[in-house]
Amino acid sequence: MQVLKGAEVSAKIKEEVQGLLASVEGPAPKLAIVRVGERPDDMSYERGAIKKMENFGLRVQSYVFPGDIGDAEFKEHFAAINRDSDVAGILLLRPLPGQICESDIEKMIDPAKDLDGISPANIAKVFAGDESGFAPCTAEAVMEVLRAFDISPKGKRVTIVGRSMVVGRPLSMLMLKANATVTICHTKTADLEGTCRNAEILVAAAGRAKMLDKRFVGQDAVVIDVGINVDENGKLCGDVDYASLDGTASAATPVPGGVGAVTTAVLAKHLVRAALAGK
Ligand code: NDP
Repeated sequence: MQVLKGAEVSAKIKEEVQGLLASVEGPAPKLAIVRVGERPDDMSYERGAIKKMENFGLRVQSYVFPGDIGDAEFKEHFAAINRDSDVAGILLLRPLPGQICESDIEKMIDPAKDLDGISPANIAKVFAGDESGFAPCTAEAVMEVLRAFDISPKGKRVTIVGRSMVVGRPLSMLMLKANATVTICHTKTADLEGTCRNAEILVAAAGRAKMLDKRFVGQDAVVIDVGINVDENGKLCGDVDYASLDGTASAATPVPGGVGAVTTAVLAKHLVRAALAGK
């Protein structure tokens, strides 16, 4: 089974980013990471993003607000970051605490700085197959993994487990744009095992530790595991029981070391694209 390593994909994206950076005048583009509170998931994603931006030669600044900040006060700060001409792109760590109206922020964020595709304008573009906006980084990272390893979704049966607005839904649109025949599964799917096994490319984005073992994987299928979970021993694992795949899947992404590393590389690419578009 071929191991689809995220680091290899990230290295290819880094070359692309450096090519694009050559056309950026002045200081390197700056990413604003906006975090409210101290959720460990957010902080771990933030650390990964900072490391990646630094490694790619990009600027990054975290804007951290207390977890109990009021809606109006947060919106004031967010509006200032949004307006700041030195900020080329924004990554908002979500979910926000309940007192802040997240859908207002989605509407507030400047679509040209909305690197993770949360604004209605960018979502609409993804659904229309218009590549001029920003798709959510994780969904795009799945496509980048396939591209880097020359695995074409064209004409293939692709099954995606998960229908969130962050991964499953936008990814289904990117796959459709790439001419795949797409099936989306969720908690009400009647025959999850059979539907997954029928896929030539199976994408797991359910957020359930090791829920998909080899019974869910067709012979020679390509398996992309988006899940980031903690197993019974406290170790990071995906939605796929990776150890069970040998002899079934032809290729699979590991967790950690798979899609996660690519997500932040896509974020970097989006940042440079935003900077170039805003010139
Ligand atoms: P959500 O919880 O928002 O969505 C999970 C989706 O999976 C839902 O549509 C849900 O169905 C479906 N689902 C959950 N359990 C089952 C099940 N037993 N059978 C079938 N479908 C199921 O999660 P996200 O989309 O935000 O994230 C998914 C995973 O990806 C998480 O592990 C997350 O940590 C990871 N992630 C990884 C990133 C990366 O960079 N690699 C970035 C973002 C997320 P229903 O709609 O019916 O509830």
